[in-house]
Amino acid sequence: MYKFEDNRKKRIHEIVSVVKLLSIILCSIILFNESYFIKNFSLDNTGINTISQTICIIVLLIVYEGWILSSIKSNFSENIQFKDAIEISIFIIVFSTLIILSGGHISQYKFLFLFLIITSTIQFGITCGIIIASISSVIILVIDFIAISDTIINQYFETDLILVGIFILTAWLLGYYVKVEKEYREKLANLVNVDELTGVYNHRFFQDSLTQQLESAHRQNQSVSLLLLDIDYFKYYNDLYGHLAGDKILAQMGDILKASVRTGDVVARYGGEEFAVILPNTSEQQAILVAEKIRREVEEASFEGEQNQPNGKITVSIGVSVYPHKAKSKTELINSADDALYRAKFFNKNRVETYFSILEELKMDIEEEHIDLISSIKTLISVINAKDRYTYGHVERVVIYCGLVGEKLGLNEEDRKILKYGAYLHDIGKIEIPKEVLNKKMPLTDREWELLRQHPSNGAEIIKPVDSLTNVIPLILYHHERYDGKGYPQQLKGKEIPYLARILSIADSFDAMTSNRPYKTRKSFDEAIAELEKCSSTQFDPDIVRVFIEAVKASDTHFDISV
Ligand code: GH3
Ligand code: MG
Ligand code: MG
Repeated sequence: MYKFEDNRKKRIHEIVSVVKLLSIILCSIILFNESYFIKNFSLDNTGINTISQTICIIVLLIVYEGWILSSIKSNFSENIQFKDAIEISIFIIVFSTLIILSGGHISQYKFLFLFLIITSTIQFGITCGIIIASISSVIILVIDFIAISDTIINQYFETDLILVGIFILTAWLLGYYVKVEKEYREKLANLVNVDELTGVYNHRFFQDSLTQQLESAHRQNQSVSLLLLDIDYFKYYNDLYGHLAGDKILAQMGDILKASVRTGDVVARYGGEEFAVILPNTSEQQAILVAEKIRREVEEASFEGEQNQPNGKITVSIGVSVYPHKAKSKTELINSADDALYRAKFFNKNRVETYFSILEELKMDIEEEHIDLISSIKTLISVINAKDRYTYGHVERVVIYCGLVGEKLGLNEEDRKILKYGAYLHDIGKIEIPKEVLNKKMPLTDREWELLRQHPSNGAEIIKPVDSLTNVIPLILYHHERYDGKGYPQQLKGKEIPYLARILSIADSFDAMTSNRPYKTRKSFDEAIAELEKCSSTQFDPDIVRVFIEAVKASDTHFDISV
């Protein structure tokens, strides 16, 4: 829609510029034709003077052409800008001078003002048109009044009164037409851009608007924040009260959002029950405040039947990200806000989360020469996420579980860091496993199992070149070893398995149990805890399992993993 509008403004600007250019050419012809002018202002009638006049006019035309071309590149506004006011003033001065030079009240060129009235009304609307028509009228009438003192009777005055009437009428009629056309255009744009149910902008407008905001932020070196909101347990509400009642909540949500943001912010319906808010020129800190305000207002608002929701209220979870600090492109911005929303969801919902990337943290610890490799790892991880949609969010959850248990175990700073990086990178070797194997619903064949079992060694190989990740290699290599020695790849047993790898193995398995996998449905939190206890001493280190269970039970991190 922005493109259409820009195109329209550009074409109007072009046609108006052509008319102005023609009016200048007309002025030049008048200059040459007017014997009065030549008589009074040429020192003599030599060709030199005519040539210098021609050169002057050509130079003027070229300068004006340059002005037009330069303004085509800039943004067009329907409001009059300083440079437009200057241009209009110059035209008024040129036309007035020409009228005075060609006889003042007897001049036949008073109609020249019409060019300016028509072009300005088309460009800037009725008010601007009437102001210019009035100024032109005053100039013509003042010239007439000055003439009255000389000639007593000015027979041109009556004709000039009609001309003044034409000026005002033209500005009013054309201005009114432009106004009506603009109103209809806006109504149509609203129909195309606004979501009927919620009254906020629709997905298409959101995409266009975000592209535009990012372009302008890039030009002006500003930041743009993005909030993605998702209503918590909305499916539950729909199931309980039906879709029509659900729709009412969506409409009410649209109203709350519109009322909670500043003018200039863009609220849009991103998907079914997901909304997006674009916050131009807003830092991450400010965006978090806005998001927190929205979250609170939704929590405090009263919705019909909300008391039966799992948390007793209609609430939203919000993900925040910011360009260019956290994301360098539109896609990155949306994906990162979505990632943050995802985290807000499994941190108990009704929550604001901002995007952070462990890789960015990791980059700070890595020597300059390996930064490129870290970027490649980031790409690899997004490739794995795309390939294996069931593991989406898995890595992040494992990182969070490892953080919880690492704290509970009292690990030192260095070990916690290694554990975190290990958790983040543990599945990197999956890049070499075909998508069909990762997403297979049927039990895997022996050959496929063999492939899958290679991912710890493959992962270790991938990060081997990075010296500062040497300590992380054992975690990647041994996170599928079992305490009873029946794991892979090296069938290490008990304490032979590095301590941090034993922790990672529990976090990884716990998340696998509680997530939906292609080949099995997930276990509930309690079922997964029971399974950990059952496999204590066989698959897992019993001491760590005990602490792990305590840690996840104590934290309020009961992830709702309903991907
Ligand atoms: P979560 O807390 O994790 O967000 O759980 P949820 O139940 O809200 O799940 P999800 O975000 O996947 O919600 C999708 C549901 O939103 C499915 C559908 O019932 C509902 N929904 C999507 N679009 C509409 C709509 O236009 N009208 C209504 N009434 N419901 C919608
Ligand atoms: Mg949703
Ligand atoms: Mg939802």
